[in-house]
Amino acid sequence: MTGPNYTGLVAAQRAYFLTGATRAAAWREEQLRAVVSMIRENREAMFDALWQDLRRNRFDADLMDVEYCAKEAQYALDHLHEWMKPERVHTPLVFEPGHVRVRRDPLGVCLIIGAWNEPYMLTLAPLVAAIAGGNTAVLKPSEISAACAQVTAEMVPRHLDPQAFAVVQGAIPETTALLEQHWDFIFFTGSPKVGRIIHQAAAKHLTPAVLELGGKNPTIVHASANVRSAARRIAFSRYINSGHICTAPDHVLVWPEVKDEFVAEMRDAIHDFYGEDPKQSPDYGRVIDDKSFARIAGYLDNGTVAVGGQTDPAERYIAPTVLVDVPADSPVMQEEVFGPVLPVLEIDSVQAVIDWVNTRPRPLGLYVFAEDDGVAEEILDATESGDAAVNDCSIHPLVPELPFGGVGNSGMGKYHGRFGFEAFTNARGVLYHGSRLDPGVKYPPYAEHERMHGVISKLMP
Ligand code: NAD
Repeated sequence: MTGPNYTGLVAAQRAYFLTGATRAAAWREEQLRAVVSMIRENREAMFDALWQDLRRNRFDADLMDVEYCAKEAQYALDHLHEWMKPERVHTPLVFEPGHVRVRRDPLGVCLIIGAWNEPYMLTLAPLVAAIAGGNTAVLKPSEISAACAQVTAEMVPRHLDPQAFAVVQGAIPETTALLEQHWDFIFFTGSPKVGRIIHQAAAKHLTPAVLELGGKNPTIVHASANVRSAARRIAFSRYINSGHICTAPDHVLVWPEVKDEFVAEMRDAIHDFYGEDPKQSPDYGRVIDDKSFARIAGYLDNGTVAVGGQTDPAERYIAPTVLVDVPADSPVMQEEVFGPVLPVLEIDSVQAVIDWVNTRPRPLGLYVFAEDDGVAEEILDATESGDAAVNDCSIHPLVPELPFGGVGNSGMGKYHGRFGFEAFTNARGVLYHGSRLDPGVKYPPYAEHERMHGVISKLMP
């Protein structure tokens, strides 16, 4: 045992799950309403902790964490009955009289492990899906966003059913000990490296897992793009939350004829958003810790600084930065940037973009800025990514009707809205077969009704 023993906690949640209490629609509604009121009542504490951990302003905090989670819970409340209804599907003639249904049943006792960059979204949005699915859950927020983890650990047991939900705080030893337990489902958000550890631990018990991972999201600026709009949207998505966003544009691949215009528009956008000195802007954050600061600041000499480049280790400040003349094999192009530095590289054909994407690990997001009809579809048709956006980037997870999640190296499984409900439930196919008719032709000995074989196989689905 490498950490505390959580066997009792899991056993207690499983015993509660087996009482059936969490399956009732009324209980799920009550818990979802409690999530909404928990967030509304603890807004100030949540904002304060986000400022402490990430120097996150209130607008960003609401957009990605605080109000976001309340909206996710409200959306689940609004759709719960429709989601829970067993789906009617076609009944093959051979099963008449009868009917078939797809039920969506809870998985049971779930483990939710979060990352630090959106500390509430990455624990509470999966929690909403767990509740909607009728499950119990243990939340393990990231120890790195410590103030937010503390707020989560204090508010969840005060507002939600304590028999169904618990928060465990801790780092690697605690998470390792949690992973030794037998869970019915694991939902993990974090790096591809740790995702592999989680998947191996899940495999030991054949526990299904959703892995929401990261990677390098290529962002294409085609010669036909509305360059000003592209630069403003890319700047917003790259520098919000100090670049600590899994769906952020990681690097830009720009057509040579619009590169200078794009870099100039990036300079203007950064100036418009954060002023002469972004360090003084109340809307610009700080890098989460010294380790990340050293890693990101190390990228600054991987190319020529076209915008920004200033740092202050004491404050863990890195100015919103654009890098040009970046070799494709430099460190900033090998690792997920996950910080406020944007490498800009030239590319000059749709085929070169397709080859670029297809010779690298599958990204979480792929973004194409182009006005020419067909450019985006040609790229989307020939590549793979978790999700994508055309003429925008990184904010598609705000659409509750869209599935969100990676593919390949950027993860497996989807959530948000109905997709979260589906991730946290088992699609259980049920055949209800009437017993009055029971023709003997399907039973052996078959020699007795050989002539009927052709008819039977036609009736079978
Ligand atoms: P991380 O993988 O280091 O940590 C995530 C969680 O795993 C934390 O709770 C941590 O305590 C735990 N953990 C860390 N090492 C572990 C180990 N050896 N064994 C068991 N548990 C361990 O990731 P991070 O630094 O918190 O987050 C950054 C990464 O997460 C980036 O790659 C980013 O792209 C990704 N991310 C993905 C999404 C998404 O929705 N796809 C969202 C946010 C962040």
